[in-house]
Amino acid sequence: MDLSGKQIAILGAGRSGRAAAQLALSRGGSVTVYDGAKLEAFGTFPAEVELLPEATAASGRECRADLVVISPGIETAGEFASAFVDGAGELIGETEFASRVYRGRVVGITGTNGKTTTTELVQRVLIAGGITCEACGNYGRPLADVVLEEEQPAAVALELSSFQLETVNTFRPEVAVWLNFSPDHMDRYSSVAGYRAAKLRIFENQTADDLAVVRKGEDVGALKAPCIRFSATEEGGDYSLRGTSVMLDGAEVLDLAATRLRGVHNAENVMAALAAARALGVSCEVASGALSGYAPPLHRCELVGTLDGVEYINDSKATNLHALEAALISQRRPTVLIAGGKEKGLDYESLLPLLKKLVESVVVFGEIGSRLRPLFSRVVPTSSATTLEEAVHLARAAAHPGGTILFSPGTSSFDMFSGYEERGDVFRAAVQALK
Ligand code: ADP
Repeated sequence: MDLSGKQIAILGAGRSGRAAAQLALSRGGSVTVYDGAKLEAFGTFPAEVELLPEATAASGRECRADLVVISPGIETAGEFASAFVDGAGELIGETEFASRVYRGRVVGITGTNGKTTTTELVQRVLIAGGITCEACGNYGRPLADVVLEEEQPAAVALELSSFQLETVNTFRPEVAVWLNFSPDHMDRYSSVAGYRAAKLRIFENQTADDLAVVRKGEDVGALKAPCIRFSATEEGGDYSLRGTSVMLDGAEVLDLAATRLRGVHNAENVMAALAAARALGVSCEVASGALSGYAPPLHRCELVGTLDGVEYINDSKATNLHALEAALISQRRPTVLIAGGKEKGLDYESLLPLLKKLVESVVVFGEIGSRLRPLFSRVVPTSSATTLEEAVHLARAAAHPGGTILFSPGTSSFDMFSGYEERGDVFRAAVQALK
């Protein structure tokens, strides 16, 4: 990609924008970075990059760039980004931009939940199979950063959010993994169909030479690539679950009991990773060996500890209902649930049957707590707390030895915290402070 003599506008001065700016510069482009924030918030850019802080839609209307590269945090259809479209030759996302330069093999991973875990699993098994692999994209470093390296990895395990997929154009992953789909991000999309359509773009440029790895029962429309199906709950897929055994075409390929991965949702993440690795020539045997030592990242059904016979589980990364449901279904002991956080416009009514079946009581908290309490009280005793620490105390009083306190908020954290990590850290600290 030769960008000599070309004007490149980068929208967004965060990590993704910074990497895209470096990449554009390295290819000879003249680069301007636009962001609505003040200059102090921009971080460090090479001196050759022109910075345009406090940018507005008016800056966009004046901009005449050959190429506009947009960061995933900026709404593609929003007023700011739209203002650049008329004057621009082309508007693409950072993933699309970087993928035009990357020459290695791409395993793209999307889904409402499980992306990060699966991305880590794919990287791990590929490396075990002797393939250099970087986990990147929505995970770790932006792809634009990875392709700047002198020696590019042979493969990337590329976590892809709907925001990144919204702005692809020619992007074509050799393996496209679709983990699951459920309504989320309704604060950014005007409809569930819009959110799904963005994610479906992962398959858009695949051909018969590529591979789609899709959870059985998911509606992904017609695919051009051959498809491997997996499911931990439905029969008839290529990969299935029998007890703790992950089966491929009826034969055991991995015993989950020999790993630290728990719950049907993690069984599905493993299946997807095995299928992707197999497509790149790594046998299930090699992959299984590599997974035995793997533990999911913090805040994903993380066992914080056991006190008075009660397990405390931190699932702060459950920022939507689907993840909360997955955590609930995975519990094997009487459960007290702590849930709540920011109002994201999700429909919690659908949760009631599961609560009735699987939960002893619930403690709600956060912005959405006052909406959840009367709703959940219809099927299960529900109390409310004003702080997460108070929620932990109320849950402790309600739990019995042999039970579990599951902190799985089911929505995002920004009403009270800087993100799910801080929220999970506060939960963990509150548990550790219990005597
Ligand atoms: P993502 O990167 O898509 O947010 P993570 O691996 O970080 O996915 O997990 C996010 C949340 O979803 C956690 O609460 C985790 O326990 C739950 N989860 C992980 N994998 C799955 C899955 N396959 N299906 C449903 N929930 C899942």
